[in-house]
Amino acid sequence: MTFLQLDNIKKTFGELSVIKGVDISASRGEFVVFVGPSGCGKSTLLRMIAGLEDVSSGMLSIDGKDVTYEEPAKREVSMVFQSYALYPHMSVFENMAFGLRMAKLPEDEIKRRVAEAARILQIEALLERKPRALSGGQRQRVAIGRSIVRNPKIFLFDEPLSNLDAELRSQMRVEIAKLHRNLGATMVYVTHDQVEAMTLADRIVVLRAGLVEQIGTPTELYDRPANTFVAGFIGSPK
Ligand code: ADP
Ligand code: MG
Repeated sequence: MTFLQLDNIKKTFGELSVIKGVDISASRGEFVVFVGPSGCGKSTLLRMIAGLEDVSSGMLSIDGKDVTYEEPAKREVSMVFQSYALYPHMSVFENMAFGLRMAKLPEDEIKRRVAEAARILQIEALLERKPRALSGGQRQRVAIGRSIVRNPKIFLFDEPLSNLDAELRSQMRVEIAKLHRNLGATMVYVTHDQVEAMTLADRIVVLRAGLVEQIGTPTELYDRPANTFVAGFIGSPK
């Protein structure tokens, strides 16, 4: 069953046509990865799913509900930003609690959710620290924790690991795969890293200049790329 549906989605900025009619669907619990060159529209698509950007035309639904014109707060999706988006003057606990305070959840519920997310991410010992006292990997965990506490229907990731060094990146890749297994949540993940795409994805969406070139499992794309562009991106020998 389709959990997330993008139906002929288009986006223009003034005269510039950035997303030119995109159909994508994801089932509940699926890990979908968007790949494609810089400027092809990956972030714009993600921001439209989050409701941070209006669609120009088309239909977007989540869990069977048309959310095309729904405000971000009502979509129950959560975007994981790069770790530098943490509030530097707040503790890890406060960083993770912030969104829940805005949503006016009761304090004991906030504490319970932060504790649970900290347990999942293994950052329980860091809750009182400020972000500057954390490593890059720890900061990224906190950034992910901010999404987990909100218990979203869909997690959106926009190149969350791109400012980490190679070793940490592969470590966090494993962590994100584990997180997906543990939470069983639907995830949409943008990257231009071929290894991330191939190892994390249930299905990969290859984008090029605002259009979908091909959608398939990593194996399908590797074995049967639709064209040399896809082959080049996936790294298959075609
Ligand atoms: P990607 O994430 O794949 O690198 P983006 O979605 O960020 O690509 O951008 C796609 C295209 O849309 C680019 O040409 C970019 O310059 C343009 N674009 C993105 N946001 C805006 C905006 N707010 N105003 C005008 N153009 C934009
Ligand atoms: Mg981008």
